[in-house]
Amino acid sequence: MNKKVLIVEDEVAIADLEKDYLELSGFDVVIENAGDTGLKRALSEEFNIIVLDLMLPGMDGFEVCKQIREKKDVPIIMVSAKKEDIDKIRGLGLGADDYITKPFSPSELVARVKAHLSRYERLINSNQKTNDIIEIRGIKIDKTARRVYVDGEEKAFTTKEFDLLTFLAENPNHVYTKEELFREIWDMDSFGDIATVTVHIKKIREKIEIDTAKPQYIETIWGVGYRFKV
Ligand code: CA
Repeated sequence: MNKKVLIVEDEVAIADLEKDYLELSGFDVVIENAGDTGLKRALSEEFNIIVLDLMLPGMDGFEVCKQIREKKDVPIIMVSAKKEDIDKIRGLGLGADDYITKPFSPSELVARVKAHLSRYERLINSNQKTNDIIEIRGIKIDKTARRVYVDGEEKAFTTKEFDLLTFLAENPNHVYTKEELFREIWDMDSFGDIATVTVHIKKIREKIEIDTAKPQYIETIWGVGYRFKV
């Protein structure tokens, strides 16, 4: 899908030129010729980037920028004919991402738009750290959030129950003895014995199995131990 650009510019010839160049680079472009209508558009539709002129009828670019920023974090490139205005914008800390002084070449604008979009995307992606999730049939274990869902429904697990289930699910089809599981999940110095493992397996089954007498996930291998079946 093409990226959407909003140009807020009252000089129609300039706006059209910017639009042509951006469209040639594969962007979808919308133009508003006044500050107030530009603001309305910016708040009511989703744009990937906004090119905002400073001197505008209706409402000036300072105010438009400020009001967009209060609601959205879309990148904004501010355009002005005067170098002093650019300094003023910077000083006000309105939250614009970049500034261009007129006259500028349309290709420079395109380059800046592209640079900001890729920077913005990198930022978004780096903020979206994905959780470490194990999914086996109807069971979803979110290791990052330490939550367990059975057929979409969250089930409450104690720390050790969670650790035990996660360990087994991460090593499917491997048979572990109770001693091995006890060593793995409980530290060696802790009180308790391998019967603890049996108790915890029972509790986990009550939460994840439809019929605990016929477990579909954690199988008992008689005389040996347990395994998570996939
Ligand atoms: Ca203007």
